[in-house]
Amino acid sequence: MIQVNIKDVVYLDNNATTRVDERVLAEMMPFFTQHYGNPSSRYYPQAEIAKKAVEKSRFQCAKLIGTKLQEIIFTSGATESNNLAIKGYCLANSTKGKHIITSLIEHRSVLDPIKELEMSGFNVTYLEPDHYGKISTEKVEKAISSNTILVTIMFANNELGTINPIDKISEVCKKKIVVFHCDATQAVGKIPINLKKTPVDMLSFSGHKIYGPKGVGALYIRKKLQKIKLLPLIRGGEHENGLRSGTLNSPCVVGLGAACELAGKLMFEDIKRIHTLSEKLVKNLNLLGGITFNNHPRERLPGTLNLSIDGVNAELLLSRISDRVALSSGSACTSSKTEPSHVLKGIGLTDSMAKSTIRVSIGRFNTENEIEYACEVLM
Ligand code: PMP
Repeated sequence: MIQVNIKDVVYLDNNATTRVDERVLAEMMPFFTQHYGNPSSRYYPQAEIAKKAVEKSRFQCAKLIGTKLQEIIFTSGATESNNLAIKGYCLANSTKGKHIITSLIEHRSVLDPIKELEMSGFNVTYLEPDHYGKISTEKVEKAISSNTILVTIMFANNELGTINPIDKISEVCKKKIVVFHCDATQAVGKIPINLKKTPVDMLSFSGHKIYGPKGVGALYIRKKLQKIKLLPLIRGGEHENGLRSGTLNSPCVVGLGAACELAGKLMFEDIKRIHTLSEKLVKNLNLLGGITFNNHPRERLPGTLNLSIDGVNAELLLSRISDRVALSSGSACTSSKTEPSHVLKGIGLTDSMAKSTIRVSIGRFNTENEIEYACEVLM
């Protein structure tokens, strides 16, 4: 790799991960060196302060999505939250039925545990999205049978940015009395989510997509209505109500909470500014010609654009401009592979179109100048 000054590289890959907000980092710091006690220990201040901070974080997470703090458990990130929700629920409830509904374009951390369940005897319906990556409520409703125990559909797609009608899908699942899990990793903190109004039963999210630290996430598990029984995947110490054992990473848990609180406070400001920047990018890119946008034109995350550029090899383009602009040719989680992403295939792109596709994800710290510069580089 050529030597570059990182400050010179415009970072437009915020769906892969985000820079920790300085305000979040400031909240985390004392928990490394001052309040370093184990939050499960008792009596002495190092532990009591850590425990209190963990509970504050639980409250901050719950508030952002309109739930109660008792309904949040901390994990190592959305991958773990998704695994726990899906495997934990299906393995604990397999006597009720063995049918799962999901979509073709979920994140690997949803599809892989489902594959494992499929190999052990579960039946799975993989719903096809429309060409923007949107899952229709009607398709979900039609696929539900008396054997269905779980529906899992993502809030917003990480590669496309397209947002699903989660309010309607969750209502259908509620009506049919089927548990509904939602991978909201790309949506939490970026668009309003209020689970008081949207009857999602389990919802996963992560710290590092919202200007918090990596390696920490949460799973919301609804307490009202029927109790959701989960088989824990990690045992040993009964932390997090026995659902996720292991000493909590208190500095990062504090960071997740702080990131959630900040996201709540800045959401409308962030949405407005990021949307303006992405509209500017769309306008400039359209001047280029030969560009097809794969994301939904309106129902999309404010900062995410997914575009195919006629006759361009995306990998080659991205490596050539990597000293000036950081972009992704698909999901960061699969970009070590060269085959076209399952998401792009899932929306019906040909292999050659998929190989000409890039994802731009604009975040809180991007400026108008950076967007102008990125346009110049791309042009
Ligand atoms: N789901 C989605 C939609 C994602 O974008 C990601 C991160 N790429 C994950 C799950 C996994 O999150 P984490 O990195 O916190 O494990």
